[in-house]
Amino acid sequence: MAFIPYSRQSISEDDIASVVRVLRSDFLTQGPEIERFEQAIAAVTGAKHAIAVSSATAALHLACLALDVGAGDTVWTVPLTFAASANCARYCGAAIDFVDIDPHSRNIDPALLREKLADAAAAGTLPKAIIPVDFAGLPCPMPEIVATARVYGVKLIEDASHALGASIEGVPVGAGGADITVLSFHAVKIITSGEGGMCLTNDDALATRLRHLRTHGITRDPTFMEKRDEALFYYEQLELGFNYRMTDIHAALGTSQLARLEARQVERERLSQRYDRLIDPQQFRLPPRINGYVSAHHLYAVEIKDDTIDRDKLFAHMRAAGIGANVHYIPVHLQPYYARQGFVPGQFPASERYYARALTIPLFPEMTDDQQDQVIAALMSGLHSN
Ligand SMILES: *Cc1c(COP(=O)(O)O)cnc(C)c1O
Repeated sequence: MAFIPYSRQSISEDDIASVVRVLRSDFLTQGPEIERFEQAIAAVTGAKHAIAVSSATAALHLACLALDVGAGDTVWTVPLTFAASANCARYCGAAIDFVDIDPHSRNIDPALLREKLADAAAAGTLPKAIIPVDFAGLPCPMPEIVATARVYGVKLIEDASHALGASIEGVPVGAGGADITVLSFHAVKIITSGEGGMCLTNDDALATRLRHLRTHGITRDPTFMEKRDEALFYYEQLELGFNYRMTDIHAALGTSQLARLEARQVERERLSQRYDRLIDPQQFRLPPRINGYVSAHHLYAVEIKDDTIDRDKLFAHMRAAGIGANVHYIPVHLQPYYARQGFVPGQFPASERYYARALTIPLFPEMTDDQQDQVIAALMSGLHSN
């Protein structure tokens, strides 16, 4: 039986034709495809500005820089995320701290956030920015988080790497009120550009700053220059930026993929509901469903309820059966790099508890019902042989 991966990109003939068209064109990079992709993403998300970059990691870094995160500042995120959500603060010389998850939603716990912010305000140690993460594609409760952050004047970067196409009460991720929302177009994500990321914002000044930062801090627009009326070749470096540009090749792939966003979302929803129906809820806690929330269903992650079942053995059983099970995520604060900054086991119990029992099983739009049945059969036989 062929190996069933936990996630898989789908490349259509249209995708291939789009990339080839760019390869035959005048611009491989810094051409018209970037703006096309940006405008298409802005239209889908309702964000005023979309700034394409080379990865979500780059987008998170630039988001921190644009919000003036620097040495002496602290940034908060959740432990249950990919390392990049925390690393971006460290790139800027800021310290990182964490807010635990709500075990039901698996996203940042808004009550814990309120408490921690109140304590930090009293102690004079408020963070510069908070990075909530839309875990597995389910949006964080942004209306509540935005209201809380506003009380303390703390900036918000929503890490929506999993959540393109998700929404709350019809409000798409990207229009949820964060200062900057970040998307990923890595190969396993909702749509792909190969590698790629995007910053979304409604703030004109932040958008301009992000555009400068992604290309060395350089501008060719006299509006932003210190000297005016210079020669035509003249440009200015306004601050220290990076080369975080996306290429036109990647952008064309992204735009082509975006055309299938809705169809792929329908398929992810159908497969998720099928898992929901067929997996025994006595044995496994299933991904949360929240009224009014539409998840992008990037990952389908279950938690083993029976504490006598060894997760690692179940994982090994799945892999031996040719099923690409995975675990998302080892809590970031437990990584040696962050442990060296003083974080210890037991500090964020909900994230640690989730991690100890969690298993991500395959979900991708082209998955067949037959493949899904194989995954469920392996899950059940794994329980019995555990
Ligand atoms: C994938 C991912 C990133 C990083 O995305 P890249 O585009 O690979 O840099 C950041 N945060 C989360 C939550 C992710 O899943």
